[in-house]
Amino acid sequence: MELKFISYGGAFDYPLGNSSAIVKINYKICLIDCGHTVYSSLRKTEKTDEIDYVFITHLHDDHCGSLSSLLIHRKHFSKNKLKIIYPTQAFRKTLHDFLTFTLIQPEKYLDYLSIEETGFADFIDTKNRHIPGMQTFSYIFREENETVIYSGDLEDSGYLKEKLSEKGISSGIIFHDVTFNRQNKAHAYYKDVEKLMGNFEVWGYHNNPDEKPDDCRLKMVAESSRFLI
Ligand SMILES: [Zn+2]
Repeated sequence: MELKFISYGGAFDYPLGNSSAIVKINYKICLIDCGHTVYSSLRKTEKTDEIDYVFITHLHDDHCGSLSSLLIHRKHFSKNKLKIIYPTQAFRKTLHDFLTFTLIQPEKYLDYLSIEETGFADFIDTKNRHIPGMQTFSYIFREENETVIYSGDLEDSGYLKEKLSEKGISSGIIFHDVTFNRQNKAHAYYKDVEKLMGNFEVWGYHNNPDEKPDDCRLKMVAESSRFLI
């Protein structure tokens, strides 16, 4: 399995691009999130036609703002339609309703596949733990002995740890959204995310790494070439 970030910025870190990653697993290429900067990045890196599956963590613009553009591109310029992976039937309907406004008949542009049918991915329902009322998900990717967890936008890193424990997951790599601002109640404060370190290898994203405080023990994905495209 390989996970590489297309870009890693927070919602307002426009020059850094929106947080989004590509996971290569089980002979499939998966895109996690497609914010408003992501379609242009995929075009520039010529990865638009490579994607098999799309996982959407939630419907904020910086996570799905160019999804319609990607779907339209794939219908008109590629041989195969994208598959949108849905964690729950309710979220499938939400996505379908959302895309109906931009695509009119979304089913002409995409196919749906349940997350169970992928055979390698799982999810944690994190509703209300980013923004009250907003449906959000964390995603888990497993192949052989490797486990990779992608938080999505999630203020409550303790909740993630609790739910991973319930699933019997006590090790692996966690990519967690991180804010360096304690007043930010939409994302996980770095001191709280540090508590996940130990059995887990933890990497932060969804921020500007230049703002990282000196006492932060977390590594940011931006600080290493290991997880960057
Ligand atoms: Zn968000």
